[in-house]
Amino acid sequence: MTLAHAYTAASATDPLVPGTIRRREVGPRDVLIEIAWAGVCHSDIHTARGEWGPVSYPIVVGHEIAGTVLEVGAEVSSHRIGDRVGVGVMVDSCRDCAHCREGYEQYCLNGMVGTYDGIDRDGSPTQGGYSTHIVVDEHFVLRLPEGIPFEKAAPLLCAGITTYSPLRHWNVGPGSRVAVVGMGGLGHLAVKLAHAMGAEVTVLSHSMRKQEDGLRFGAVAYRSTEDPATFQELAGSFDLIVNTVSAPLDTDAYLGLLTLHGTLVIVGLPPEPASVSLGQLLGNRRSFAGSNVGGIAETQEMLDFCAEHGIAPEVEIIPAAAINEAWERVIASDVRYRFVIDASTFTP
Ligand code: NAP
Ligand code: ZN
Ligand code: ZN
Repeated sequence: MTLAHAYTAASATDPLVPGTIRRREVGPRDVLIEIAWAGVCHSDIHTARGEWGPVSYPIVVGHEIAGTVLEVGAEVSSHRIGDRVGVGVMVDSCRDCAHCREGYEQYCLNGMVGTYDGIDRDGSPTQGGYSTHIVVDEHFVLRLPEGIPFEKAAPLLCAGITTYSPLRHWNVGPGSRVAVVGMGGLGHLAVKLAHAMGAEVTVLSHSMRKQEDGLRFGAVAYRSTEDPATFQELAGSFDLIVNTVSAPLDTDAYLGLLTLHGTLVIVGLPPEPASVSLGQLLGNRRSFAGSNVGGIAETQEMLDFCAEHGIAPEVEIIPAAAINEAWERVIASDVRYRFVIDASTFTP
């Protein structure tokens, strides 16, 4: 049993405060990780504040974890003490159902176990990465390639794979016209990844404040969604639109931007339901789709792709004590472009 320092939320309205949690004994196939960096995902906020439904408190969120292996179980074969590793949104799944066998653990037919607010093997709630240590089955532990700076690796474990997976699934490549809606943590990586895959990328943002950055990340155009001309001029323009926005949007307006056989894929997950005019789907035979993170093999592929193409998130490093203020800045779209917590500061 390892006692870990962590930042916990006692309720949907309480700020995060320092505390301690117990990590399970290292089982034969488990890896004990000393966390070095913990990324801040907007999902942490939705979850801790109960926006997606009830959760069990106290909760430790965080599912963008980069750290070093401290201990391995007797049967562990893929990781060694001292390795730089990562953990994302899942820490377990049945690994036996048709989806798991195909590498889609995130869609496990028996339910994947989330890194936080899941149900651990001993029946207790799983606790996430705003913490000094974590114990995870080796299958859900990723290798961090040397080419990715350690402090920049963490956000790839959620924001990176969540945007990489739909780009791959919808076969983005040279000649693809891709729009990324919302340029926050997920969105800025979507721009870099789609550009590296050869697509022509447009950012659709609710302000022009980040235009220079968007063009630097590889976009060819940056347009404001507050300007009605954007929707008129770009009608029928895109093969794929990736919506990363954490707030409700006018789905019909974005469907109108799709070309023949185009797809609007939702990765941003505001709690409110969306409405779609069915006629918008018939025109141009459009698709309205969703995508949830990515499987373990695909996450490793994404990490290797990022190392090969020199892709990393833009990060702002903060100490644990700054986390409540950082959350407010995320909500205000005032993050450039991912907060990463120095995990050594979880220890008082
Ligand atoms: P984030 O850093 O806060 O980025 C969200 C972006 O959405 C903002 O930067 C902003 O971009 C835009 N936005 C925010 N509020 C808006 C508003 N009221 N109107 C219009 N645009 C607004 O969040 P994130 O960490 O990237 O996460 C984004 C969403 O994805 C969250 O809902 C999160 O829960 C979800 N998520 C889903 C998955 C999955 O597997 N599907 C995985 C991770 C996260 P602009 O300023 O450029 O407009
Ligand atoms: Zn996330
Ligand atoms: Zn399964």
